[in-house]
Amino acid sequence: MLTGVQVLLIGGDARQLEVIRKLTELDASVTVVGFEGLHTPLDGAIHAELRDELFDSADALLLPAVGTDDNGLITAVFSDRELRLTEAQIARLPKHATVYAGMAKSYLVQLCAKHGIGLMELFERDDVAIYNSIPTAEGAIMMAIQNTDITIHGSTCMVLGIGRTGLTLARTLQGLGAKVKVGVRRQEHFARAWEMGVTPFYIDRLLHEVGNIDLLFNTIPTMIVTAQIIANLPSRAVIIDLASKPGGTDFRFAEKRGMKAMLAPGLPGIVAPKTAGRIIADCLCQLIMDNAKLWGERP
Ligand code: NAP
Repeated sequence: MLTGVQVLLIGGDARQLEVIRKLTELDASVTVVGFEGLHTPLDGAIHAELRDELFDSADALLLPAVGTDDNGLITAVFSDRELRLTEAQIARLPKHATVYAGMAKSYLVQLCAKHGIGLMELFERDDVAIYNSIPTAEGAIMMAIQNTDITIHGSTCMVLGIGRTGLTLARTLQGLGAKVKVGVRRQEHFARAWEMGVTPFYIDRLLHEVGNIDLLFNTIPTMIVTAQIIANLPSRAVIIDLASKPGGTDFRFAEKRGMKAMLAPGLPGIVAPKTAGRIIADCLCQLIMDNAKLWGERP
């Protein structure tokens, strides 16, 4: 239980509703900022304006998927107000407090480091990334279906990168009956892909492997689908780039060639906000509970 733990949650989207629900279920004292536009009540949570005093007693500060932008602005889909996290606010947090966000830009990283406040980036955790790969793969397949006139079954799909997202996506495509090729750079990943029954190739051979592809999914967060690669793809091919912004595709050249190529960020929050919210909520509550035990053990 989180009885007595003070949580301050600022901004976010539908995913945070699951987080708030779970926190209140566990008896945390939850203050929320940036939810005044929500039409359904948030049972057990207190609505507040963004005031500096709120930070004085917070044991945990919860921020959205992208904690803040480079100027401290916090996205809040249920609010029209501008929510900006300031240095003065971070400085007011108790020293044992932790800031949690999906990922943090340098603004937040630097403020937390400067004031000795712990920062946890949830999307960097393996467990969260693996759970998130499920709605990500489903979202990628939704985009593939929406942007092709063929079935996934029987199509030739290429997945670049066999990390947490690529592995789930390759297996899901395979389950739907696609012929799946997987681009890797490590021998152990080559072996894993082969064991799964998909067709691995080394990424430095990419140019020679793209000739007969219907769908190309990229998960490698660096420029990999270059103009030269795109020039070798069949014109019917659709590129769905899942890597974090700006993706790994030369979108300008794809457009010039008249090919469909799209960057598809934030799929879990788009296709399955409830599931994505539960993934965050489960991890977050466990982390706060573990932290609360540590505060309890302090002299
Ligand atoms: P990951 O587990 O680190 O996997 C990344 C893969 O890319 C690994 O196989 C890695 O190979 C490979 N890779 C990295 N740099 C490479 C390079 N220069 N050449 C060849 N291969 C390279 O990451 P992930 O969790 O799967 O996430 C992948 C990307 O998707 C990230 O950018 C993440 O932010 C994004 N993402 C997007 C969504 C969405 O909704 N669109 C959802 C989740 C994640 P090695 O193991 O050899 O390094």
